[in-house]
Amino acid sequence: QTTRPLKPHLVIKEVLNLMHASLPSTIKICQDINTSCGMIMADPTQVHQITMNLITNAFQAMGETGGELFVTLKPIKLTDNELNIPSMAPGEYICLTVKDSGPGMDKSMQERIFDPYFTTKKKGRGTGLGLSIVNGIVQSHGGYIELFSRPGQGAEFKIYLPTIKDPA
Ligand code: ADP
Ligand code: MG
Repeated sequence: QTTRPLKPHLVIKEVLNLMHASLPSTIKICQDINTSCGMIMADPTQVHQITMNLITNAFQAMGETGGELFVTLKPIKLTDNELNIPSMAPGEYICLTVKDSGPGMDKSMQERIFDPYFTTKKKGRGTGLGLSIVNGIVQSHGGYIELFSRPGQGAEFKIYLPTIKDPA
């Protein structure tokens, strides 16, 4: 696989369909996938991996008890004056959100989760590489990743990737 113009919703839907079967019935999936987002320039395998890593983390975090998993994709246009994310240039992006109702994370943990090999999972369950890989892929695509979380209140990851101009 190589980098090419890509419709992000196709990859994200594919991942959701693939994972749906293996998710326990205690997890309720809510999805809102906008199918008219712009195209992104990306390797589909990498977009697949980002989505899968975030969803896997979410359902592992919710554990036996289960909970709700929200996956949304929407277009977003950043103009100069609404830029609260310093490293993002104005322009059009897609925003992929993966949100769960799991245990969430405190500040000190949030500072470490993108570090390679940081994991709180038992041996054999987690390598601690998932989020560092996600972060690397997002960065290499000129994108940005945000995390909103509080202990006991779930976690929400937002990934922004720039869209390409219509190849008209
Ligand atoms: P791994 O899943 O192999 O542990 P990751 O890099 O994917 O490695 O995640 C690192 C750690 O971040 C996890 O072990 C977990 O403690 C924490 N984490 C990641 N996603 C979530 C989430 N949605 N809710 C709570 N904790 C999370
Ligand atoms: Mg992981």
